[in-house]
Formats: sequence, C-alpha cells, structure tokens
Amino acid sequence: MNDSSLYRYSHHISLPQVTRIGQQKLTQSRVLIVGLGGLGSPVALYLAAAGIGQLVLVDGDQVDLSNLQRQIVHNTAQIGQDKVISAQTQLQALNPEIQIITYSYRLEPEALQQLITSVDIVVDCSDNFTTRFAINAACVRHGTPLVSAAVQRWSGQVTVFLPAYSQSPCYACLYPNQAEEGETCSETGILAPVAGIVGSIQAVEVIKVLLNIGESLCGKLLLLDTYTLQWRTLKLPKDPACLVCSSVNFIREIR
Ligand SMILES: [Zn+2]
Repeated sequence: MNDSSLYRYSHHISLPQVTRIGQQKLTQSRVLIVGLGGLGSPVALYLAAAGIGQLVLVDGDQVDLSNLQRQIVHNTAQIGQDKVISAQTQLQALNPEIQIITYSYRLEPEALQQLITSVDIVVDCSDNFTTRFAINAACVRHGTPLVSAAVQRWSGQVTVFLPAYSQSPCYACLYPNQAEEGETCSETGILAPVAGIVGSIQAVEVIKVLLNIGESLCGKLLLLDTYTLQWRTLKLPKDPACLVCSSVNFIREIR
C-alpha cells in the first residue's frame, strides 16, 4: 500500500481487528453484488469506500425515477442508464483505487455459477425469489459465502450462509418451498432508510467474513422492525432434509 492508500484507509487500519494486514486483505478481495437497488446501493457504496479490491456488479435494470427514493448509488441525471453503469460511475468517483466489473443483464444460472467460482463472497441484493434461489444453489455448490437480505415496508432481515461449513444452513433451509413467490418492495412499499440500514449490515458482514473476524450471522436470522425499532435474532438451523444443501454435504462426507 502506498502513502495515499494508507491515509485513505487509516480509520480501518487503526482498528486492532483490521490493521494494515486486514486492509491489505480487503484490497485483494473480490465481491459479487447481485442487484444495484435499495440494498445494493449502500452495500456497493460502503464496500467501495472500504477498499474492496474488485467489485463485480450484476443488474439487468435501468435507473427509473421511482428508484431514487432509496437507491442512493444512482442520481437524477442517470435516469434511463443501466444501473450497473450508473453505480460504477459513482463508485469509481468515490474510490478510484478499486476495480469494478459490470454485467448489465440478468445472468443465466450457468453464467452465475461460473462467476461465483471466481469471487470470495456473494452479496444477494436482488428482489425476487428466482434469483435468490439460483444464487443460493450456486453458492452451496461451490462453498462460497453468501450474505443475504430482504426489506419491505418498515422491516428487514439479514443472514449469512457459509456453505463450506457443514453446520451452515442455506437460503433453501429458510424457505423450503421454492414455489412461494414473495412480494417485492415495488408492490408493498418501503421506507427509504430501511434499505440503508439493512444494506449497511450486509456490508459489515461481508467485511467480517472476508477478514474472518467477529461473530457472523451464520446460523442466525436478524430481523428488524423499524416502526417499533425492535431487533430480534432468531436461530436459523440447517434443515437436514433441505433439498439444496443436505445432499451437497452428504456428497462431501462420503468422499
Ligand atoms: Zn439448505
């Protein structure tokens, strides 16, 4: 790290759990962010500012006026632009030291699998169940850590899956019925800063997993109700009958 980088990240380096070694590790890390909307915005901004060396951005949508109420990585002048390009402009201005790779289309499962093998961790900031299940299946298959979250109205939830560990649950353990289609925030509404709070927690979890420090949300589901401002943490055990992760671990055990 040169003098400018040391100064840029000095408030990280001062943390005894991070130090110069940890910051160096962050600058060598590769993080995939799927979805550059309400959650993806704070995730991408904080991870770019934190100096993650390479951010891979995936989103097939364009910036719409109604996005700007909460999707703070985009701005009014960028309405109509691909979200990944709009985000890249902001992130690169915030931190020119990092590399940003963009995919301005929805990735087919095979392309997603391939991409997931090349990153250290995946952040699911998508807004639909089909994408979430596809990301989960690919992460389980390749043992890639996954930070998952969802928000709607005044509420949010966050959890972490570490599929390389046999005790870790996966997204399908949480939602065993894959056919269940949830509502998206465009249908139900969402208070703007709720996405900011929950996305910021995702960014914290990414950094902790990358540095292997602290206590992650693996095996736990953090629930936030901002209307009453109450946090709850539920246990999220692995489902031994899970169709996605139980068979993978079985295969690993018999090898
Ligand atoms: Zn599972």
